[in-house]
Amino acid sequence: MVMIQSWVTSANGSDCPFPLNNLPYGVFSTSDGDSRCGVAIGDMILDVRGCEQSGLIDLDGPALFDKPHWNALMTAGQPVWRQLRRRLTELLSEPSREKSRLRSLLVAHSSVTLHLPFEVAEFTDFYAGRHHATNVGTMFRGAENALPPNWLHMPIGYNGRASSVVVSGTSIRRPWGQLKGPNDNTPRFAPSARFDLELELGAIVGVDSATPVSVDRADQMIFGYVLLNDWSARDIQAWEYQPLGPFQAKATATSISPWIVTKAALEPFRCDTPERDFPLLAHIRDTTPMLYDIDLTVQLAPQDRIPTTIARTNYREMYYSSAQQLAHHSSSGCPMRTGDLLGSGTISGAEKHQRGAMLELSWGGAEPITLDSGENRCFIEDGDTVTLSGAAHGDGYIIGFGDCYGVVLPAFDDPYQR
Ligand code: MN
Repeated sequence: MVMIQSWVTSANGSDCPFPLNNLPYGVFSTSDGDSRCGVAIGDMILDVRGCEQSGLIDLDGPALFDKPHWNALMTAGQPVWRQLRRRLTELLSEPSREKSRLRSLLVAHSSVTLHLPFEVAEFTDFYAGRHHATNVGTMFRGAENALPPNWLHMPIGYNGRASSVVVSGTSIRRPWGQLKGPNDNTPRFAPSARFDLELELGAIVGVDSATPVSVDRADQMIFGYVLLNDWSARDIQAWEYQPLGPFQAKATATSISPWIVTKAALEPFRCDTPERDFPLLAHIRDTTPMLYDIDLTVQLAPQDRIPTTIARTNYREMYYSSAQQLAHHSSSGCPMRTGDLLGSGTISGAEKHQRGAMLELSWGGAEPITLDSGENRCFIEDGDTVTLSGAAHGDGYIIGFGDCYGVVLPAFDDPYQR
C-alpha cells in the first residue's frame, strides 16, 4: 500500500499523520461553538455534516451527520462505512471534480476545538498485556503469583464507567480516595500520591449484538480505534482491588484521542497475536491476524518544561486482540452496543523503556525516572502533562492517531466543598 495523493497538499507529506489513507473521524467546533462531524485531511478538517447537507455525500437513507457524533454512521453498519470511505477518498483525491465546492467546507485544524467523537455507551477495560500483567503482578503479589491462573486462558477485565471518558485536552483533577500504604496500619482518606497513567488502545464497537459473537464477527463489529489513557491511582487501587478489581482507582477519568482511526485505515498493518502457552478455547481462538503494528509513545512534561519521552512500545505486544476481548465479553450473552469502548489494557514491551505505566517504569516508586529537565519522577506530579502518541508506518506514509493528552491539576483542598 502506498500513499494516495490528495489535492489537499498538506496531506501528502510522508510524516503527515492524516494522509488520504487515514481519514480519521472526529467532532469539531469553530469559534461559533457549533459542533459537527469532520474528517482530518492533512492540516485541514473536512466538514462532513456540510458535505451531507449540500449533497456532496449522499449515502441513501436518513441523515447520518445531523448530530455531533459518529454513532449514526456506526449503527448503519459495515457496508455504509465502506461507502463513506470510498466517497471521501473520491472527493479528496487528486484529481477531484468537486474541489471548488469542497474548499469552502475545509477548516484549518489549528482553528478548531475537538470534542468526544462518539457517544460512549459503556466502557470496559481489559488487562491483556503480558509484560504489564507480569510486572504489576510481581509488584502486588510476588513473582510466583504474578500472572493470575486465568490470565493465559482468557482476557480478564472489569466494567468501567462511560461517564469517566473525556476527550484529549481535558484537565484531570488529582483524586482523593481511601488509601492504605504498605507502612500504614489503618486506611485514610487523602489525595492520591501515586497517580499514574496507562497507555492503551481503545476499540470502539460499531454495531449492536444481543447474542454471543465469534472472534471473526467481533472483528467485523469494531468500527475503529483511539488512544486511551486509563488514569490510575495506584495507592487507591492497591487497597481496594481485592476481590472485585479496580473501582475508584480508575473512576476519575479516562482520556481518549479525538480522532477515530478506522479499522479500514489500519488493514495494511495487521499482525498476529503471540504464540500461546495453552491453546485458547474455541470462543476466543483467532484465525487471522487481529493485532496491529502501531508504534506508541508516552511523553511527560513538567509544567513549563519540554516533554521527555518516557516509554516507547507497540500495540503488537498484546496477548489478546480487541476482537478476542469483544468475543469474550459477549460470550455470556452480555449485550454489546454501538459506542461501547473497550480498553486494551496497558501496553508494555519486554524492555524497561517499553513499559506503558509509571508504576512499571519506576518499579513501584523504587527506581525514579530522570526527565530531560533533570527532575525525577516516580508518579505524576501536579502540573505534569502526559501525552500519548501513536502511528502505523506504511510505505512512505503514516497513519497517525491524534495525540491524547491531559494536564494533572492539584487535588482540591476539600473535595466535599465542591
Ligand atoms: Mn487499564
